[in-house]
Amino acid sequence: MADQLVQANLAGHDSHGVGMLPSYVDGVINDRLKINSHPSVVVDSGALLTLDGNAGYGQVNGFETMQMGIERAAIHGVAVVGLRNSYHIGRIGHWAEQCAASGYASMHLVNVIGHPPLVAAYGGAEARFGTNPFCAAVPGRDGRPGFLLDMATSIIAGGKARVAANKGEKVPPNTIIDIEGNLTDDPNAFWYTDPSGKRGGALVAFGDHKGSGLAIMCELLGAALLGGETAHPKNPRDGRIINSMLSVIIDPAALGNAEAYYDEIELFRDFVLDSQLRSDCAQILVPGQPEELARIERADGFEVDPVTLDQLKTSAERAGLTSAVFEDLVG
Ligand code: NAD
Repeated sequence: MADQLVQANLAGHDSHGVGMLPSYVDGVINDRLKINSHPSVVVDSGALLTLDGNAGYGQVNGFETMQMGIERAAIHGVAVVGLRNSYHIGRIGHWAEQCAASGYASMHLVNVIGHPPLVAAYGGAEARFGTNPFCAAVPGRDGRPGFLLDMATSIIAGGKARVAANKGEKVPPNTIIDIEGNLTDDPNAFWYTDPSGKRGGALVAFGDHKGSGLAIMCELLGAALLGGETAHPKNPRDGRIINSMLSVIIDPAALGNAEAYYDEIELFRDFVLDSQLRSDCAQILVPGQPEELARIERADGFEVDPVTLDQLKTSAERAGLTSAVFEDLVG
């Protein structure tokens, strides 16, 4: 678990890094997150696998599920792997990187349930699903990074709205819908709660009907298809963070010619990057490059802000560590 959280920080995604620990500790203490758990096999028919994550740590579930998928892809050329009912599996790119490190291309469609939905369907003003991430990666030659697209299907993450609200800042225009159904840049409109405790406001899916449609397909392909739960209110909402994920893992050598494939992606990358800039843009990057750049910039470590550090300390105490032990660990 530590490995994935720290790797998320190093890749520049602090929203999915060590700052997630307090919510995990909360999940353990409230018996929503099951510790010492491993995924159990629901379906095993060679290239097709469905695993149940038993609400255990997503980092254990994600790692073991990818390992099994990689082993199956090595035998069959492809593996279609469903992981349902896992506690939060964090940064999805991490799982694509695990596949890419073994030389496999992969696609991952994910839903997230258990807490109130955050994102409205296109045309709607009320949240109906989570920030359902979509991820796809193709490996580079000799384990080198190829391309990695790893994104939430909302324009901005819920966590970014919370940070902006705390700082008294605006979010980008038209990324939030208020309870009256109007687009706004006011983050408080997303975190609005009426006196009965009902949360109002919603995040806007990226790309109008297209992003909203992709989020819905993540819900259906990524969860319903595997026997996982979707975000409708008949499923439990006690604050847990449950992910289901459909992964398709492909051996490039099994579908085509691996050498030609590596040549193609390198030539294509050069062609994409070698372009005149749009007048309002300072650079061109391919998907996955921002994370590569963050890793270089953070090679010597990363800062943990004081608020997060304080939350980690409180969680450590809730989990039974003395402050002396905590101080000793963080140095
Ligand atoms: P983001 O917007 O920072 O990046 C999205 C993608 O775009 C990345 O592949 C990145 O490499 C690429 N990118 C970014 N800037 C670019 C540029 N200028 N040019 C070209 N490509 C660029 O990511 P996000 O949507 O905020 O998602 C953050 C993380 O949250 C992801 O790792 C995602 O897996 C994770 N997430 C997890 C859950 C969950 O329930 N487990 C839910 C939502 C999101």
